[in-house]
Amino acid sequence: MIDLEFEPPKPTPGGLAASMAALEKIKRRSFSERNPELGKMIKCQICQKRHRSSIKCVQVFATKWWEEDLETGVVEPIFASADQNTRFGVVGHAAFKGKRLHPHPSRRNLQLIEAVRALLPDEYDDSDLKKARARARRMLANKLGRHGFFPPVWMKQEKGKDA
Ligand SMILES: [Zn+2]
Repeated sequence: MIDLEFEPPKPTPGGLAASMAALEKIKRRSFSERNPELGKMIKCQICQKRHRSSIKCVQVFATKWWEEDLETGVVEPIFASADQNTRFGVVGHAAFKGKRLHPHPSRRNLQLIEAVRALLPDEYDDSDLKKARARARRMLANKLGRHGFFPPVWMKQEKGKDA
């Protein structure tokens, strides 16, 4: 009988280090890392939905009219685009969704408005208004704290650092 003793292969130190590194790389991967063909979940700005990045959405523009080149006979579409002279056309509606055009003043700001009106004379110009605002701010900041009436203290300190 021949004594065949099985000896498992011994890894070289370099191979061991490489296998450890590879295992460490593979472990704890997210779903999209385990399935790179599917890609990450994205918030698609084109279709306004959440889907994987492997799905490529293409923006479709409305055709305003078709223009034909009379010499060559090539017909090309003229696409519609948003007006570039309104805020909605430039940045889109999403930035302004649910926002008031003229936000209601907060309880604090109402107090400020009331104080400014009380301080103003019957007839006033811009400098009077500025002075009244400054005075009202100071009065209310002394009474209620500076929040909303004056910039925070750290802002003042940072300005001092730069100088
Ligand atoms: Zn999409």
